[in-house]
Amino acid sequence: MRYSALSLALNALSGHRRWKQQWRNPAPKPSYDVIIIGGGGHGLATAYYLAKNHGVTNVAVLEKGWIGGGNTGRNTTVVRSNYFFPESVAFYEKSLQLWEGLSEELNYNVMLSQRGQVVLAHDRHQVEMSHRLRNGMALNGIEAEWLSPEDLRRREPLLRQDGRFPVLGGLVQERAGSARHDAVAWGYARGADERGVHIIQGCEVNGFIMNGNRVSGVRTSRGDIGAAKVCLSVAGHTSQLAAMAGLRLPITSYALQAFVSEPIKPALNMMVLSPSAGIYISQTDKGEVLIGGGLDLYPSYAQRGNFLTVEAVTAGMLDLFPSFSRLRLMRQWAGICDVVKDSSPILGPSPVDGLYLNCGFGTGGFKATPAGGFTMAHTLATGKRHPLIEPFGLERFSSGALIDEAGASGIAH
Ligand SMILES: Cc1cc2nc3c(=O)[nH]c(=O)nc-3n(C[C@H](O)[C@H](O)[C@H](O)COP(=O)(O)OP(=O)(O)OC[C@H]3O[C@@H](n4cnc5c(N)ncnc54)[C@H](O)[C@@H]3O)c2cc1C
Repeated sequence: MRYSALSLALNALSGHRRWKQQWRNPAPKPSYDVIIIGGGGHGLATAYYLAKNHGVTNVAVLEKGWIGGGNTGRNTTVVRSNYFFPESVAFYEKSLQLWEGLSEELNYNVMLSQRGQVVLAHDRHQVEMSHRLRNGMALNGIEAEWLSPEDLRRREPLLRQDGRFPVLGGLVQERAGSARHDAVAWGYARGADERGVHIIQGCEVNGFIMNGNRVSGVRTSRGDIGAAKVCLSVAGHTSQLAAMAGLRLPITSYALQAFVSEPIKPALNMMVLSPSAGIYISQTDKGEVLIGGGLDLYPSYAQRGNFLTVEAVTAGMLDLFPSFSRLRLMRQWAGICDVVKDSSPILGPSPVDGLYLNCGFGTGGFKATPAGGFTMAHTLATGKRHPLIEPFGLERFSSGALIDEAGASGIAH
């Protein structure tokens, strides 16, 4: 069923009781051509592009909970492509371009709001680094603009410029923005289901069926299921699952938290990030002030964060936006992030035959959802890595060809 103003009006006549379910609830088949473990944005996007771009429809997405219940539904939804190295820029810019057409592509409003993201500079070294980043981005064809303190005063009147973190300017990517996280998962799920993909929720994978060094299926809470190819799209749980196939990955899992205030009238225009204060902040479409910071720096699989981090992030936020001191926090939560040394993803085949990896995005993979799915679908369908992900193979950790994006990823999602 296509969503449109007309279908909305027609359904209103029947009191909105005739909308079809957005995706089915199928029982698992004995085997599939491709099994994707993890019903987050990346897993669902991979399934969608496999079916849509490559005609591979004998596919199942296995999700232990509900789709979008992992980091996809827990993140702060910053979407941008302002990275430093050409390899990263090419990948994240492809993603941003896919984002820009996604609502139309999926016939599902993903509520992309390109309101700009500014990274503040608080001392002369950061000003210099910002200009270096801007030049690097310009060489890679990505626009970015330097905002002076006066520009910032105009665009973010509530930002305090003369406090503990003096504001000397900021680098803005105007095309950056945010999108509605659930809608991305649901839109891809609906599009994949429509093309025959099985989305199976409440199905936990707890082992692999191995044939020598080849994966030939998965063991799940709903029985064994065969598969010619298996793709891991389980973010912070990747190293646990890979270990079940005898594979050790250079990933450490940490909790990353975020929190929102009560809703207020429009007060913030852009997404604002301060590496020195260790915070980033934006206002949601509902009016809540959405606040994030750095990782809880100890390995964890508990989907909750500690209060010390909440306190430090809140203090940093109040240094920059003192007028928010009266806001009440409404919710706080965390997701488990798959962090690697060079802050770049791991995408492509693994040393175990038939097992593919989409992981290592750490604190910044939401923006990569469309490109992650697009390139992994190509890789799974053709058996050849998509050119955009050639540099992001697991081998780089032994060859040393790391793509260190810590500067662009740090707390800067
Ligand atoms: C607080 C927070 C803020 C963030 N902010 C941003 C941001 O602003 N911008 C940005 O780009 N990125 C951000 N990120 C990172 C981003 O959320 C993730 O990189 C991205 O969503 C990962 O998507 P995914 O589909 O790979 O994983 P997920 O959405 O986590 O999906 C993985 C799924 O796998 C399932 N799963 C796990 N184990 C199993 C199993 N054994 N069997 C079956 N299913 C299993 C999980 O239940 C989960 O649903 C943030 C993350 C957090 C936690």
